[in-house]
Amino acid sequence: MHTLPQLPYSYDALEPYFDAMTMEIHHSKHHQAYIDKLNEALNGSGLEDKSIEELLRDLKDVPDSIRVAVQNHGGGHYNHSLFWESLTPAGSTENTMSTGLSDKLTETFGSIEKMKEDFKKTALSRFGSGWAWIVKKDTGELAIISTANQDSPLSENMSPILGLDVWEHAYYLKYQNKRADFVDAFWNLVNWQKVEKRLG
Ligand code: MN
Repeated sequence: MHTLPQLPYSYDALEPYFDAMTMEIHHSKHHQAYIDKLNEALNGSGLEDKSIEELLRDLKDVPDSIRVAVQNHGGGHYNHSLFWESLTPAGSTENTMSTGLSDKLTETFGSIEKMKEDFKKTALSRFGSGWAWIVKKDTGELAIISTANQDSPLSENMSPILGLDVWEHAYYLKYQNKRADFVDAFWNLVNWQKVEKRLG
């Protein structure tokens, strides 16, 4: 059985950038619903003991009858778990980028500002619901991409380094239609220490 991970901070810890009510609904209702539906789909499939990473990496091995459910609800579970861990209160130690990470990202994207610009463009051009990501491809190369719905980069042979949920439920209460303001706010909350660990 997959279970809802506890947040490593309180619902109001990301104020004023991410408001407490959105965080609470997003975590306790939306994320929980993905988990409930994933467990329901897996029940009796023989795949109950597989990790969520294994399920999504080897989506083609999941039986036809539940593949879409695992893609959507399993992806929802994995993506949100990674998202919560990618966040930290503004101004915390984890919110500070090390020189090593800054150099690496600058080398890849030209500059940190350029990286944020590309990421924002990608987040804004996702029509409807989905995610913006910084991923590591199987070649080791870093890239900024977007996925639709709850599709996970894991299912496309990529390792997510940083992800932003751009479904309206992630920002509508505070930002309404202004997805761009939500993306700008996100940078104040990134757990750069986690990002650096994922880079390996
Ligand atoms: Mn979400």
